[in-house]
Amino acid sequence: MQTKLIIVGGGAAGIVCALTAKRENPSLQVSILEQNERIGKKILKTGNGKCNLSNLNMSEHFYNHPHELSIWLNQIPISEVQAFFQSCGLFLKTDGSTRLYPYSEQATTVLEVLRYELKRHHIDTICNVRVKSLIYEQGWIVKTNQRDFKADYVVVASGSLAQEQTEGYRILQELGHRLIPLVPGLAALKTKEKLRHLQGLRVKCQAGIYEQKRLLHQDKGEILFKDDGLSGILAFDLSRFLTKGNEVALDLLFDYPHLERELTSLLTWKELEDALMGLLPKMLVWEILKRNPNRDIKAIVKTIHHLSFEVVATYGFEWAQIARGGISLEDINLDFSSRKQAHLSIIGEVLDVDGASGGYNLHFAWLSGMIAGRAIASFEKNGK
Ligand SMILES: Cc1cc2nc3c(=O)[nH]c(=O)nc-3n(C[C@H](O)[C@H](O)[C@H](O)COP(=O)(O)OP(=O)(O)OC[C@H]3O[C@@H](n4cnc5c(N)ncnc54)[C@H](O)[C@@H]3O)c2cc1C
Repeated sequence: MQTKLIIVGGGAAGIVCALTAKRENPSLQVSILEQNERIGKKILKTGNGKCNLSNLNMSEHFYNHPHELSIWLNQIPISEVQAFFQSCGLFLKTDGSTRLYPYSEQATTVLEVLRYELKRHHIDTICNVRVKSLIYEQGWIVKTNQRDFKADYVVVASGSLAQEQTEGYRILQELGHRLIPLVPGLAALKTKEKLRHLQGLRVKCQAGIYEQKRLLHQDKGEILFKDDGLSGILAFDLSRFLTKGNEVALDLLFDYPHLERELTSLLTWKELEDALMGLLPKMLVWEILKRNPNRDIKAIVKTIHHLSFEVVATYGFEWAQIARGGISLEDINLDFSSRKQAHLSIIGEVLDVDGASGGYNLHFAWLSGMIAGRAIASFEKNGK
């Protein structure tokens, strides 16, 4: 009798897990159950449709659990993830920085290649099937909205609530796994200040998150002003470290230490407003002057280096790229098998792992799929 492996969720992690397990142990019968009408829908949304699938600048420090990530990244170095895609026939390139993309710059290419591989390895993808619960009775019974499926091993790769619905968290909680509370991550920030007058403006700056004046986190990048908050890659990255009520302060001239001296000398022959116009976009000059009605030069320089906003919320899951929180890493082993149930593994974003923008979240999905797939294949081969 063939050993049956069922993967719940046909996303990035589930597809790579299925392929890895089957390649390493062709005697396995592998099926993917996907609730949507087709697999890999979220892959198509990634990187603005270009799929930023990984990053050559790979380090555990881009994740919320650096300790575990350092072990996993050692186990599967970035070169192995690249080799995996090359073995599927996918051509890769960087965008001139360290971000990795398919050569075509089309997320559809990534999905097409993965779908082809699934077919080539005779892996069943069964769509429009929503898994409702998992019951262990001398083997797994996978209960769905259609019918029951039987399996010797189950991998839950059900992803997160970011721009998707999933019952994966509940299913795993019912089996004894703990859930770290979920909040939207890599999402735009809603601020108390209304910013319609700055809407559409993009600035490169350094931003800090402050809690009662204490600096919690700092990063550089691009901010895009929205009518009710801050967006852009820098705002997305900050959202991973924020809680409600934190202050975000932008240093608009972080690489310009002698600003006060230079502005003062300009003021010997120019009006303040005209001097600032040579320095910053017009819309920001007005914002800074509005915040400093007495036009004190020291206070103006301080505002330029610390333009603060109170964050009242992030945008919700319907806009977020990832979820922070998820199934606790304390409830899995380093090969992604469950510590609560035998013959069950948990991979990808359903876990409490979140990474920075730049390909780190997809990288974790591929990596966890590869490690779990390998472990299941060898576990089964060795007859344990
Ligand atoms: C707009 C957007 C852009 C992004 N861009 C990037 C990027 O450029 N680079 C990057 O690294 N990351 C990016 N991400 C994040 C990245 O897409 C995710 O981290 C990654 O897809 C997670 O992979 P996963 O397999 O764990 O989950 P998913 O890819 O979400 O797959 C989970 C699958 O499980 C299915 N499922 C859930 N519950 C059930 C159930 N009960 N029964 C059956 N099926 C179920 C879902 O339908 C889904 O297909 C982006 C995310 C979004 C939303």
